[in-house]
Amino acid sequence: MSIKKVISDYPKDFFNGKKVFIRVDFNVPINNEQNIIREDYRIRRAIPTIDFLIDSGAKVILGSHLGRPKGIVNDDLSLRIVSERLSELMGKKVFFCDDFKDKDWINKVDLLPNGSIVLLENLRFYKEETDNDESFSELLSSFCDIYVNEAFGTSHRAHASTYGMAKNFDTKLAGFLVNKELQFISEMLSKTNKPFVVIIGGSKIKDKISAMSKLLDRADKIIIAGGAAYTFIKANGGDIGNSIFEAEMIEWSRKVYTEYSDKIVLPVDHLVSESIEKTNSCLIVDDNIPDGYQAFDIGPKTIDLFNSIIKGPGSIFWNGPMGVFEVEKYSSGTIHVARAVALATWRGATSVVGGGETIAALRKAEVLESEISHMSTGGGALLEYIGGSSLPGIEILD
Ligand code: ADP
Ligand code: MG
Repeated sequence: MSIKKVISDYPKDFFNGKKVFIRVDFNVPINNEQNIIREDYRIRRAIPTIDFLIDSGAKVILGSHLGRPKGIVNDDLSLRIVSERLSELMGKKVFFCDDFKDKDWINKVDLLPNGSIVLLENLRFYKEETDNDESFSELLSSFCDIYVNEAFGTSHRAHASTYGMAKNFDTKLAGFLVNKELQFISEMLSKTNKPFVVIIGGSKIKDKISAMSKLLDRADKIIIAGGAAYTFIKANGGDIGNSIFEAEMIEWSRKVYTEYSDKIVLPVDHLVSESIEKTNSCLIVDDNIPDGYQAFDIGPKTIDLFNSIIKGPGSIFWNGPMGVFEVEKYSSGTIHVARAVALATWRGATSVVGGGETIAALRKAEVLESEISHMSTGGGALLEYIGGSSLPGIEILD
């Protein structure tokens, strides 16, 4: 049984000639110097839904954000490159609309044949998107007849395109990918095999902390590493040099660590360097990171420690890389964890891995999609959902 109504719950005729807005998650990592998309998993995963709708004779209008432009137009965060990739993948033209506030364009969409695909420019170029502005929501919903959410990764945000505009539609459906995410995660949560190991890394600590706190009771072990670790290490009186941390979360981290010291596992050694570029100044240090150095990866003892925890069977949930894996020299910890999760899955663990960068890291480690039980497109949203929060972008659907 579906949790939310899915596009395939309707006959194909239903969509014929309709304009369908799909909130997709095309927030993909891009290398602007080389003008390439580093990882297009999120684009490819939306294709079955787009296929279904254009085969049904709908015109689809895709909306997404990319990065955090904070209401300012920023060429580096334009979705134009994504429209080109989507067009390659679909083998058909994708119309790119860089100014949907211009009334003319909606008339142009009306003239397009059924089955056409339009991608709107980065919605976060407008501050009204994250403000969940009512008139912006109205503008977006005025383009279309049906609303579809295929952006699981943004469903924890009550923004105009994920929440505000959806309220204006009679028909608000889940896409195939959102449905699959919901099904898998609900099933996993209803019978979580023990031990339940949670692995948190990455850099967006503040975003992850509220979900983390909900997971503390549910998890048997919670590994906190990558950029997320240093707030905890500093809170415990460790020297972290120039490593990233979240000042306002220090108090919280200290309290949580005291309360859950038997569950929380932090790195015990680190690969540090004077700066990201100075890879020849790398050192391995135990607890205390010297002044002038910053941690960019976990060290070898930590890799052994994590390997001994990520064994399977049971359940494993992973979001966030163990280091700055984008740089070869700092990728070892993340690659080892990726392989440990895959191996544990072979041993019978149920594994869920999510997050834009974390998925890119799996590829770097040459871990196949088939070696992970569920590869999620969501990072923060997945964390919140697993932590038991309801997601506004999901709640709003039929
Ligand atoms: P995800 O996209 O998988 O949810 P995040 O966006 O939270 O993950 O974080 C990913 C980023 O975290 C990566 O680009 C990585 O370079 C960075 N990162 C990991 N460890 C560290 C660290 N120790 N210091 C700084 N950045 C880090
Ligand atoms: Mg990310």
